Amino acid sequence: MASDAAKIFVVDDDEALLQTLGWILTDKGYDVTTLADGVDLLARLESDRPDLLLLDILMPKIDGLELLEQLKSGDRWRDLPVLMLSSMPPEDATVRALGLGATDYIAKPFKVRELLARVDARLRQAHELRRVREEVKSRAEMVDILREVTDSLKPDEIYHLLTRRVSRALQLSKCSMVSAQPGSDMGLVVAAAENPMLRNLEIPLSKYPELRKALLSQRTVLVTDVHTDPLYEETRRQWAEQGISVRTRSAIVVPFSLRGEQAGVFFLRTTQDDAPLSAEDASFAEAVIHAAVNAIERAYDLEAAKTDRARFQTLANTDPLTGCVNRRAMVERLERELDRAQRYRHSLTVMMIDLDWFKRINDTRGHLVGDAVLRQLAEILLDEARSVDVVARYGGEEFTIILPDTDLDGAVIFAERLRERAAKYDHTPTADPLMVTVSIGIATYSGDQKVSAETMIERADAALYRAKKGGRNQVQQ
Ligand code: GH3
Ligand code: MG
Ligand code: MG
Repeated sequence: MASDAAKIFVVDDDEALLQTLGWILTDKGYDVTTLADGVDLLARLESDRPDLLLLDILMPKIDGLELLEQLKSGDRWRDLPVLMLSSMPPEDATVRALGLGATDYIAKPFKVRELLARVDARLRQAHELRRVREEVKSRAEMVDILREVTDSLKPDEIYHLLTRRVSRALQLSKCSMVSAQPGSDMGLVVAAAENPMLRNLEIPLSKYPELRKALLSQRTVLVTDVHTDPLYEETRRQWAEQGISVRTRSAIVVPFSLRGEQAGVFFLRTTQDDAPLSAEDASFAEAVIHAAVNAIERAYDLEAAKTDRARFQTLANTDPLTGCVNRRAMVERLERELDRAQRYRHSLTVMMIDLDWFKRINDTRGHLVGDAVLRQLAEILLDEARSVDVVARYGGEEFTIILPDTDLDGAVIFAERLRERAAKYDHTPTADPLMVTVSIGIATYSGDQKVSAETMIERADAALYRAKKGGRNQVQQ
């Protein structure tokens, strides 16, 4: 017997019938095993892996329906076609057998030709199902690769990647992702393979019966031909009324959820030039999309964690009154910048800025006005600083600025500009002017011998002290 002959198991307690079936099927070229009861059927299935099972219902030891129920309760034999044979009243037995997952039902006595035709049809169907599952599996492997890639992407980049991949794998001209809730009027096209630039296009769901159906039913919707499918009856009337000629042929809509919440649908379409979409295409699309949704969820988690971390970091490093970097973060940053400066032999300047006679402002105008002055000065500093500079509130009414790549000459020019601008600024919008000057101490590192952040701050502070001693409203180094 050819090794690729389909293997058939026949289980029946009627010995004569079992023998007859054995002959007929063997004669047709099948590899047949006959069993007089189903006692060790499961073990035999494991060892022989048949392609089809013919199972009698009424048997003394274990009845066929019970066996069927055992078989179909798990995934193991999900794809094994089972033809039930019985002389039970057909209505009853058919309904029960098919309900339990039988592929087909043949009433005894049966015509040999009919039996053979059914066996052949079921085997072909099972073969096709296996092929599709294999295909889905191999494509699911592709999704695994995709998943790794997507870990590093942002959700909207993933949407685009997914729509492109799904459309390419299915060779579809159109594949988009529509974000929508069941029952809502509008959907948002968040990505479309056919238009990589598209982002967040609003569409009225009233024009898309397939989207509405998928959203409401939470199931995949397959439309083989939009020009004949009853779902589009009303839509076709609208198309005709508005003189719209629609090039779409088939559509698959796969709903997906994110974090347990309905998020939207994948909307796949072919045009008149493409082959119509089939149930296999729909099952593949589902497999790809469901695997891919996991990738999206992971990316979301990652993004959220990153955002939380970043937000927390920012909070921990920021002075709440002025929004400047706080002292602790400034010192850390200064250490890093000094390392860099030493490595690349660049210069670096640290500047200490202290408000002159600030205590008086608090005393004469109140603490709140004092706070406003601090905020305003911080704004001036931030405005004058370059993006690489770090403006920090060192404490009280003292600020620090780290100026990477800045030598003494550049630092003095910058400090003078700051001093002048601060001195000219009127902090009160009322008639009574409120002017505040600053004293600035500069310490510059030239990139040679190693120096600590602490030393740099001490040097800047010493220069600041000289500026105060020298009469305030001045720059010292
Ligand atoms: P000098 O020119 O010598 O720097 O004189 P000064 O008055 O500015 O210096 P001093 O160190 O004597 O006083 C600093 C004042 O800054 C004392 C304190 O009340 C005030 N200050 C510190 N932090 C804050 C703040 O967050 N808000 C307000 N309104 N005032 C503050
Ligand atoms: Mg002061
Ligand atoms: Mg001070």
